[in-house]
Amino acid sequence: MQRNLPPFELVYPSTAQDAVNLRSECYSSCYLAGGTHLIPHWRTVERPPELVINLKRVAPWNTDDLVNTSWLTPLATISDLQKHMFSHPGFSGLSTAAREFGAPLIEPLATVTGNLAAARSNCALAAPLITLAAKVHYVSIVGSGHVSVDDLFEKPGCTTLPHGALITAIEIPTPPPNSHGAHLSLRGGTTSSPLIVAASTLVELNDDGTVRGGRLSITNAASTPREVIAAQEILRAHTRLDDIVGDLGQAAADAADPDDDRWGSAKYRKRMTRVVTERLIKSIASIPTTEVATQ
Ligand SMILES: Cc1cc2nc3c(=O)[nH]c(=O)nc-3n(C[C@H](O)[C@H](O)[C@H](O)COP(=O)(O)OP(=O)(O)OC[C@H]3O[C@@H](n4cnc5c(N)ncnc54)[C@H](O)[C@@H]3O)c2cc1C
Repeated sequence: MQRNLPPFELVYPSTAQDAVNLRSECYSSCYLAGGTHLIPHWRTVERPPELVINLKRVAPWNTDDLVNTSWLTPLATISDLQKHMFSHPGFSGLSTAAREFGAPLIEPLATVTGNLAAARSNCALAAPLITLAAKVHYVSIVGSGHVSVDDLFEKPGCTTLPHGALITAIEIPTPPPNSHGAHLSLRGGTTSSPLIVAASTLVELNDDGTVRGGRLSITNAASTPREVIAAQEILRAHTRLDDIVGDLGQAAADAADPDDDRWGSAKYRKRMTRVVTERLIKSIASIPTTEVATQ
């Protein structure tokens, strides 16, 4: 049931350090970016904290240059990502996940950082960012640091960052030469229906089209998005992708540990993890070798 928002104090710090200080001075506080996760959450699940720290005016994040090839600022939104032309085919998985976000009305508000920091099992952008070896940079009252996106999630709603950490950037390394990314999601009905399961991959190919490395990750197939670790070894096979489709599907299903929910049973979700992964890998295997090798 939706309820009116209870009152809370809203502040607009102008620097990242001010934001961190405010967060550390008030235990009942949180950061707010686009608010598309938090505000519905406060209306239905949990009351808002006493102090809400809106990041919209933090300089220099409040400029137009929110996305470049290797860095996203914390205010970069799903729409910013959709507009940004990543030319390297290794970014195809990330571009697809951003395009298929599934909620056009909120895409100009919803940030990539908020998507990760909410640490939901169905977080749309985590899987492609894991395959790209992206890192989250943060500052906190005890110092600054970075953590790779595959190590970011502790449990639903909870990251491994220090208490009160403020994410200051998402770093996305340039994919290796001759690599190709892809992302595939299965939803409960139309493109805006709830996500059943999704998989992302970044595959590195030799000039003859055989595979020399890569990564695979899955979303909504466990309590938080995760990498399919066994896939790294399978993808180093120096064989044709067609020959390892089944092995990768099995590895993804083995890594999945879903719960039942009203959109599908755990058994169905696990089976779909395999199906989606196999279709994802076949979609790359069907790209002509010359097309991949020349990019
Ligand atoms: C109608 C609707 C459809 C949606 N569809 C999808 C979907 O298809 N896929 C999907 O993944 N999600 C979806 N969402 C959820 C949500 O929109 C996204 O997760 C969005 O990216 C959250 O970003 P935000 O900027 O709105 O985060 P906010 O709500 O502002 O914050 C989310 C969390 O991130 C934290 N946070 C924000 N910025 C920082 C920072 N710089 N440092 C540390 N912590 C920070 C906040 O404290 C909070 O815990 C949907 C939501 C709605 C309402």
